[in-house]
Amino acid sequence: MKRSYDFHRVRSHRPYTVATLAVLLGVGERTVRRWIERDGLDVAILDHSRPIILQGSKVKAWGIAKKKAKRQPCGAGEIYCVRCKTPKRINPDSFHIIQRNQSKLTVKGDCQTCGLTLHRFGSPLNRAALEAEFGPKWPDNPAA
Ligand SMILES: [Zn+2]
Repeated sequence: MKRSYDFHRVRSHRPYTVATLAVLLGVGERTVRRWIERDGLDVAILDHSRPIILQGSKVKAWGIAKKKAKRQPCGAGEIYCVRCKTPKRINPDSFHIIQRNQSKLTVKGDCQTCGLTLHRFGSPLNRAALEAEFGPKWPDNPAA
């Protein structure tokens, strides 16, 4: 039940059979055949006397486009919640910033819907922007 596949492992200039592609991506041959029959994966050679041949460049482009189509970009003040499976606003009372080192910080806060603690990594250079984006109460917080 893998949900993401590493299509960057597919070599653009190589031809693949269903079996070799399945092994490369760690899926079953039935999964690859389903991609061809139902999900529009283009085949280079399809006559019923030979094995199906897929062109590496087309497989790679198709896989990467499929992954991009599933993306859900976060809006301002949102962090992706893995429990809700959608970008969510964080509870302003739970918002805080943890300075990891000179070049990294973490924005932490609880999902407004399910309460799961959400994290977003950032740079101290963007700290003021992150504070403005996530914590409406933050500039007035004396604990800052
Ligand atoms: Zn949630």
